[in-house]
Amino acid sequence: MSSLDGSTAAVGTARTGRAQTGTARTRAALVTGGSRGIGAAIALRLAREGADVAVTYARDEAAAHKVVAEIESTGRRALALRADAATAVTRTADAFGGLDILVSNAGIGVLAPIGDLSADDLDRTLAVNVREVFLGAQSAAVTLRPGGRIISIGSSLAGYVGGPGGTLYAMSKSALTGLTKALARELGGRGITVNAVHPGPIDTDMNPADGPYAEPQRAGTALGRFGSRDEVASLVAYLVSEEAAYVTGAELVVDGGHAA
Ligand code: NDP
Repeated sequence: MSSLDGSTAAVGTARTGRAQTGTARTRAALVTGGSRGIGAAIALRLAREGADVAVTYARDEAAAHKVVAEIESTGRRALALRADAATAVTRTADAFGGLDILVSNAGIGVLAPIGDLSADDLDRTLAVNVREVFLGAQSAAVTLRPGGRIISIGSSLAGYVGGPGGTLYAMSKSALTGLTKALARELGGRGITVNAVHPGPIDTDMNPADGPYAEPQRAGTALGRFGSRDEVASLVAYLVSEEAAYVTGAELVVDGGHAA
């Protein structure tokens, strides 16, 4: 997996962005896997809420450039990094002068009957969905300013599976529950909140609303539809807001009632 090899590359204008003005300090955010899909929507929403935002990506540099340009068009500073999560935390803090928000969004979905899954599938999935989330949170735990936010993007499959083929993916996303609760206990004294957001079916490249497995997912929701990337980003925007300062160690579901 290219983004996990420790190599880094960067595009963006983090060091050349405009000077900070006014009394409120601009917050700095990192969204892993922010070049497409849910992560890109979260990155743009955080920028519109006033944060400087760095995103990581694995392969699609052009998509990452596009997100950087969109963030910059809001007047905020942006950075795209092809880097592992822990390195990205450090580089984001260096570029923006600190870190306030980590959204661990990068993830892969390998869905198949258990007998069809290989050891390589297991290693790849745990590397991206668990190991990277842990190492990113570990780095953020020492880097985040007081009042910071850690949000991990899990899946509604962590709580309700509803069909075959989800053993590996559900197992990997369930691991975020333990991380979220335990880390909330460790960081609460600094006013840092730690939460997990569990999306249901969301229309992205990973899970297209017109894909071969879309219909049962749509039918399985209470609302009878896929969700949008922006609907996940809205929940993240709430969690990073001051209004959510007392929400920590929580798992919040945005799934159209898929798990109801
Ligand atoms: P997409 O596949 O559409 O996008 C994945 C993003 O993650 C891309 O930006 C990709 O970068 C990046 N990425 C993948 N692997 C890595 C890596 N190792 N390091 C850094 N970046 C990486 O996924 P979604 O937007 O659909 O999913 C986002 C998150 O939401 C995932 O954690 C997923 O499990 C979760 N989720 C999604 C649901 C859905 O229905 N879509 C439902 C429930 C949870 P690049 O473009 O370079 O490949």
